[in-house]
Amino acid sequence: MADLQSLVAEIHAELAPRAGEGRVADYIPALARVDPKRFGIAVVDLDGRVAAAGDARVPFSIQSVSKVFTLTMALKRSGAELWTRVGREPSGSPFNSIVQLEAEKGVPRNPLINAGALVVTDTLLDGRGPRAAAADIVETLRGLAGGEPVETDGEVADSEARTGFRNASLANFIRSFGNIRNPIDDVLGVYFGQCALATSCVGLAHAGLYLANGGVDPVTGRRILDAAGARRICAVMMTCGHYDASGDFAFRVGLPGKSGVGGGILAVAPKRAAICVWSPGLGPAGTSLLGALALEKLAARTAWSVF
Ligand code: GLU
Repeated sequence: MADLQSLVAEIHAELAPRAGEGRVADYIPALARVDPKRFGIAVVDLDGRVAAAGDARVPFSIQSVSKVFTLTMALKRSGAELWTRVGREPSGSPFNSIVQLEAEKGVPRNPLINAGALVVTDTLLDGRGPRAAAADIVETLRGLAGGEPVETDGEVADSEARTGFRNASLANFIRSFGNIRNPIDDVLGVYFGQCALATSCVGLAHAGLYLANGGVDPVTGRRILDAAGARRICAVMMTCGHYDASGDFAFRVGLPGKSGVGGGILAVAPKRAAICVWSPGLGPAGTSLLGALALEKLAARTAWSVF
């Protein structure tokens, strides 16, 4: 791990002068206030050892990285039935696109675009109210984050609720096909809450460890998901985790990953480690510019790849 620590520090030092490149997400007003120069990297291996550099312990808005954890919870609750309501094909479209939904009768392409994540969140509301579903999501992430704080950033959640017209459109459109079953406001409220969760790179890397370890959290020994489920989530992350930049990420990094517009990316190196990078400046597809570069360097120098 000493080697990994120097590697992480080296990559951080090489890229730190570029911190601030890209555009901070400003369509969610509360996110626009984040310091664009923040930059953290954390790698947690299967023994729970941490290699970290920069702002790796500063909490940030995890945004769509949350979709990985809600998908995990939904698969546990609904099993394979979930795949009748959401597909597993890359969309090739932006994160908040509505175009495919009409032709495909309200069945979103995959669970990692906004439309699909709204359906996933809808299933988490079955049989209970929004408070219970939201609390379950927070507790799930807390239980996985290796003791790092996990909080809901109320300002981000409110900001998104006030400006989330596109997500409201997606949810209503899907509902018109009957593929959202719970009240729209509840689904949106829980979805905005999951996106507004804040934790650090170290917390998020810890939280992704079960995906690198066949569904078992190696630190606590708890089974989070069956091995096939964990493999499938990794497959969907690989093909769909970065919206219309998913192919580029697979080409450059070669690891399953999930981006968020807060500038975080969670990546999984199966049987080795989970990695989280955070840099709020985004590229054209709404994914972290420096984050992808850092992962590209890390994957190249460790030779971690699923290929
Ligand atoms: N909360 C964001 C939205 O729904 C998530 C998008 C993302 O992180 O990629 O617009």
